[in-house]
Amino acid sequence: MLPKPENRPVLGTFSLKGKVALVTGGNRGIGLDVANGLAEAGAEVAIVYRSSKAGGEAAAEQLSKRHDRRVLSYQTDVSDPEAIASAVDSVVRDFGHVDIVVANAGICTEVDALDFTPKQFRELMAVNLDGAFYTAQAVAKVFKAQGSGNIIFTTSMSAVIVNRPESQAAYNASKAGLVQLAKSLAIEWIAFCRVNCISPGYIATEMLADAPEEQKAAWLAASPAGRLGETYELKGAYVFCASDASSFMTGAHIVVDGGFSLP
Ligand code: NDP
Repeated sequence: MLPKPENRPVLGTFSLKGKVALVTGGNRGIGLDVANGLAEAGAEVAIVYRSSKAGGEAAAEQLSKRHDRRVLSYQTDVSDPEAIASAVDSVVRDFGHVDIVVANAGICTEVDALDFTPKQFRELMAVNLDGAFYTAQAVAKVFKAQGSGNIIFTTSMSAVIVNRPESQAAYNASKAGLVQLAKSLAIEWIAFCRVNCISPGYIATEMLADAPEEQKAAWLAASPAGRLGETYELKGAYVFCASDASSFMTGAHIVVDGGFSLP
């Protein structure tokens, strides 16, 4: 049965005080501001990153100072099941427990589907889909033993629309797969955790930085909002999903895209 929290004043239900949150891809972009939002709401945070040890540690130190609470970083490749399981073990050892995981690490490769090599396809799926599953599976084992937990997948509006004229078949498929993965896990694991997903629209991060100028202009022209989203505009959705404010919500798919995916 889903745990039933007591009826409290609503603002208090957003508090994450006493919780530990693990955020993959938490060293920059969307993940960094998600980690920031979870810390603002009271959580201690474990940041998982892949590339730069100095960058990962600097991000954790900055958040820790800003919020005056423990934020630690872990260098791990989420596409390696043993590595992410070992990182989760380290988080539990360091913090004593883990309550929230945001499987957010992702990559985007834009190549025409006719030219997409098997290696490129496998690499993309290995991070976006396999990596999110391995992350969820590793924490779910802890959540099952604890009897509670909360999983959030960063998906994308690309899970529900095909934006023209981009060549993102594999990326779109990975994110659509992740939405269905979240819904399936929400049912399978309902006895001990909630699983939801959040689909951002175009958000100003390094992921979009290298796109050609004409493509950026086309995004803006097609966007009802007339602009890209900022990473800090996603914090509320993540804190909502991570907290008791959404206690009866599981298997949900929240789209935060400034109306981009509307028909
Ligand atoms: P960035 O490129 O800015 O950041 C990607 C993050 O993922 C980095 O922290 C990176 O770590 C991490 N990462 C990548 N591969 C791995 C791996 N194998 N193991 C561990 N960490 C890894 O992207 P965004 O912040 O924009 O994107 C974050 C998520 O949001 C992604 O899943 C993306 O698909 C999704 N998204 C983004 C949108 C956007 O418009 N920006 C729109 C919709 C969804 P490192 O720095 O160490 O490489």
